[in-house]
Amino acid sequence: PFEAAKRLQQLPTQFFATLVQKVNEQIQAGHDVINLGQGNPDQPTPPHIVRELQDAATNPAFHKYPPFSGYPFLKEAAAKRYKEDHGVELDPETEVAILFGGKTGLVEISHCLLNPGDTCLVPDPGYPDYWSGVALSEARMVMMPLLEQHDFLPDYSAISPADAEQAKLMFINYPNNPTGATADLSFYEETVRWAKQNHVLVVSDFAYGAIGFDGQRPVSFLQAEGAKEIGIEVYTLSKTYNMAGWRVGFAVGHPEIISLINRIQDHYYVSLFGGIQKAAATALTASQQCVEELVQRYESRRNTLFKELDRIGWINRKPAGSFFCWLKVPSGYTSLSFAELLLQEAKVAVAPGIGFGQSGEGYVRVGLLTSEERICEAVARIEKLGLFKT
Ligand code: PLP
Repeated sequence: PFEAAKRLQQLPTQFFATLVQKVNEQIQAGHDVINLGQGNPDQPTPPHIVRELQDAATNPAFHKYPPFSGYPFLKEAAAKRYKEDHGVELDPETEVAILFGGKTGLVEISHCLLNPGDTCLVPDPGYPDYWSGVALSEARMVMMPLLEQHDFLPDYSAISPADAEQAKLMFINYPNNPTGATADLSFYEETVRWAKQNHVLVVSDFAYGAIGFDGQRPVSFLQAEGAKEIGIEVYTLSKTYNMAGWRVGFAVGHPEIISLINRIQDHYYVSLFGGIQKAAATALTASQQCVEELVQRYESRRNTLFKELDRIGWINRKPAGSFFCWLKVPSGYTSLSFAELLLQEAKVAVAPGIGFGQSGEGYVRVGLLTSEERICEAVARIEKLGLFKT
């Protein structure tokens, strides 16, 4: 008999695992479940990216260990994308680190910067992997509520002086999972000012950095003056290029943090398979037409969903980016009891807001990751429950 290390015992339970299990039970019982609960892109990776991997797989140069911090061509491709999309200049060698997916990077960053007992500010509701990194670092988490009346942005004036004084690290994430909110340049400028004043390092999670609706390209944190001096941004190819299974992303910004990430990665996995790095570089440097099409697809699904929700009288705020919609739970239900009702009675799976933090109570998250036909079918099934007034 043995006991797991204490740091593992601090890990939060993965509520997604529970959701998947419940959905599977329904499917095994023969029900046709419309799963709007998860965040897995439904489209395949564009063929020109897959072809690049196929070619690279037969190149013996990639069969050896890759360079420790990854191939320069991928870092150059990442820098080029930031220059083209955001006008941000990056030195590929010192300001870009290749990541084994965004998730791993986010956890590693906590390991690089937090000592046991340090304080870290995290968004609530927020992507649960920020908590995992903080827990594995045995640090203390202080939640920053993201409220609708504050456009789902953190209110820095509401952070207590003691927490602001103790905070060492902060996570922000726009376009936001789960609320679908976006941030403009002035928010990032305010973030830089506040973080500098309070000596807090910022990690901007830009996982949905390509997905902005109504003609608005999401703004990068690094576009704010001075951002690079106090933080980094994490980017992943998972969502932009439908490459969630490929596990590839990168971090950009503060050279010292970039060097710490490279240092910790040397001890874990050297770097990614060269063929994946080659295909990722192609994704970033080839025509971005596939990204435009992807954004249009999500926007069209969003518009269809909201037309249907309006029709049945379930009135909500449209997301400005990401592929998630944050919908209000009708009175008389908690996010969990409502999600349970939708699954049992309508065979529609949604993610209960409480899974993203206390401030997520009162909402459910719906992903735009299925066809418009299935989205309409899901709303029609919910309509039959007679919960909303038209
Ligand atoms: N950050 C956010 C907000 C996400 O929603 C996700 C994935 O769902 C990630 C980061 C990590 O993505 P990946 O590990 O696939 O790069």
